[in-house]
Amino acid sequence: MIEVSHYSKRYGAHEAVQDLSFTVQPGAVFGLLGSNGAGKTTTIRALVGLTRPTSGTVRVAGFDVWKEPVKAKAAFGYIPDRPYLYGKLTARELLRFVGQLYKVEGADAEIDRWLTLFRLEDFGNELIETFSHGMRQKVAIISAMLPDPGVLIIDEPMVGLDPHAARQVRELFRAHADRGRTVLLTTHSLPLAEAVCDRLVVLDRGRVLGEGTMDDLRTRTGTAAGGVHGD
Ligand code: ATP
Repeated sequence: MIEVSHYSKRYGAHEAVQDLSFTVQPGAVFGLLGSNGAGKTTTIRALVGLTRPTSGTVRVAGFDVWKEPVKAKAAFGYIPDRPYLYGKLTARELLRFVGQLYKVEGADAEIDRWLTLFRLEDFGNELIETFSHGMRQKVAIISAMLPDPGVLIIDEPMVGLDPHAARQVRELFRAHADRGRTVLLTTHSLPLAEAVCDRLVVLDRGRVLGEGTMDDLRTRTGTAAGGVHGD
């Protein structure tokens, strides 16, 4: 579960995020929706312990990320918007390393299953440095999913993915939440938010335009989702 309470972030005089509050319950896929500069990545970075809030609190799995970082960080899997993967390893080597680190049972079989799901089975033994952006994104998603995290936090998961992979990722977020896990993603894509999120917050230049289901937002604000891209 994720709890963000009166979270604000200021860079000098610039308010990147102003007074943001939301809760994500287990079993839900929750979206932060907004255009460039809305404050999505800033919020995610506070939640994963990378950028300290100016004010407010952020909690993951019941732990204050900035007061109990070790416990909070053990509870989530995180995929940044530009994941860094060590290029001198093959995809399989990297994923085996993750499997060992998190003591994943039956990791080899799981890795095969994931590689096949993302049509990477012929590339498992290739160096990651030879991969396209979309292929790296898939490996990053697999490495976050392999330990089966209770909370999955993903910044712009669909950027660079082909339509097949995008559909797989949508389905796996849904399935992950349906098993009682929590999924938080950011997106600038209204159709993605509509297709996968149970609830969302719409941000615009750091301000909250609305929070709720897509239907709530349409009804309450009319234009809340305006300004975000329809691709
Ligand atoms: P994008 O999709 O473009 O990444 P975003 O919604 O994720 O957009 P953020 O990256 O969170 O937006 O940025 C929110 C605002 O905070 C922007 O105006 C950005 O320029 C500013 N900002 C972000 N990081 C910093 C930083 N380290 N120093 C100063 N300003 C920053």
